[in-house]
Amino acid sequence: MIVSVNPATGAELARFQAHSSEQVNAALDAAVAAQRAWRGVPIAERVGLLTRMAGVLRAGKARYAALITAEMGKPIVEAEAEIEKCAGTCDFYAEAAPRFLADEVVESNATESAVVFDPLGVVLAIMPWNYPFWQFFRFAAPALAAGNGAILKHANNVPQCALAIEEVMREAGCPEGLVRTLLLDASEVAGIIADDRIAAVTLTGSTQVGSIVAAQAGRALKKQVLELGGSDPFIVLADADVAAAAEVAVKARYINVGQSCVNAKRFIVEEAVADRFAEAFKANVAKLRMGDPTERDTNIGPMARANLRDDLHAQVQRSVAAGAEVVIGGKPVDGPGFYYPATILDHVRPDHVAFCEETFGPVAAIIRVRDADEAIELANQTEFGLGAALWTTDLARARDLARRIDAGAVFINGMVASDARLPFGGIKKSGYGRELGSYGIKEFTNIKTVWIG
Ligand code: NAP
Repeated sequence: MIVSVNPATGAELARFQAHSSEQVNAALDAAVAAQRAWRGVPIAERVGLLTRMAGVLRAGKARYAALITAEMGKPIVEAEAEIEKCAGTCDFYAEAAPRFLADEVVESNATESAVVFDPLGVVLAIMPWNYPFWQFFRFAAPALAAGNGAILKHANNVPQCALAIEEVMREAGCPEGLVRTLLLDASEVAGIIADDRIAAVTLTGSTQVGSIVAAQAGRALKKQVLELGGSDPFIVLADADVAAAAEVAVKARYINVGQSCVNAKRFIVEEAVADRFAEAFKANVAKLRMGDPTERDTNIGPMARANLRDDLHAQVQRSVAAGAEVVIGGKPVDGPGFYYPATILDHVRPDHVAFCEETFGPVAAIIRVRDADEAIELANQTEFGLGAALWTTDLARARDLARRIDAGAVFINGMVASDARLPFGGIKKSGYGRELGSYGIKEFTNIKTVWIG
């Protein structure tokens, strides 16, 4: 049984029977048949589906956003922004996909030789709850434009969002069967990965599950894209605009109640400005309003599940026991719902849990360093490599330092965020492959050489 719970109250919202093996079988057959027809539709027509998806998302924004907030607790204003971002990304690929996938003529010893981009087939998308619509649409918009089909196995705490996504596709006039949501226990996924009807796998989720899924897909020799965990550094050098950094730091850490892979998690600050940054950051964090996520002025809603809050608090307690200092927050909120306050830990060291593990919730760790070299060394002293932010007014130096940071993206004087126009993804245990931009759309294509003698 798959149960939807409101994290703001702990109350059950709905429960669903998982799909049976017969239903899974029928869905895979239908997806393969639909994808065979879809790949023959010219791309100029395929992108019409994306435009219609954008329209359905915008028309249903209030309802879809309310569903996100009800199931995983994101503040409603952020849930609405998530739906807008999905629609914008569909629009982006509706325009850009034909350009990105245009044949490329390459000079060789042939009379004519070219690279063409064919779809791979039906892609299994295993998705997390933290951006329940965005995670799916950022994969699906380019993958569908490229001629693929999709089977969605969503996180089981957001089954209503998972079913609503299928509804968006139906209303947009998606060919029957091309995109299906399957409500499944995670233990059922291995069989689907191994199934010959699935051509490739994309997972957004934890590093632990990434390693399991990668092994299963590897055994079946299937292409994978893995978007996994992160512990992004947010580096503030002595010459930075400290007030601006301390303001952006709040959104960078606490957006989505701190439950984003690219939230800034480790604030690595040069000693010369560390007190100033910590004080300004604390003052800004103190202004955040925790409460009912359906209210428009709420900044911090509940965390998505009780166990996630328990895990986060245990990480805080272990860090404090090892010497970290609580500046603000640090204790779960009593009462119904899975609330945890915006928390700052200062004087965190590399051996503390808040430094070496991913903290997936509203907890910021401040680490004080001697100079820029030590900042870069500590930024890289992690098993993750997703994003990084760097604050300095010396842009020449910033460009140089950016190349020394082991991450899939470095944002200078800003916060890390995905953008449909730019590739997104990680290195090290943050995964491999890219989503978005011109690189993302090619992940689920057969990059085919056509040679004419
Ligand atoms: P998770 O536990 O890894 O779950 C992600 C998905 O994998 C869910 O659909 C889950 O289904 C499924 N799953 C769990 N165990 C599985 C198994 N053994 N085989 C196949 N599928 C399995 O991650 P989460 O806690 O939901 O999400 C938080 C993590 O995702 C964080 O580490 C975060 O950094 C990462 N994340 C990364 C990105 C990125 O773009 N790099 C974006 C967002 C989040 P069930 O719900 O049924 O368990």
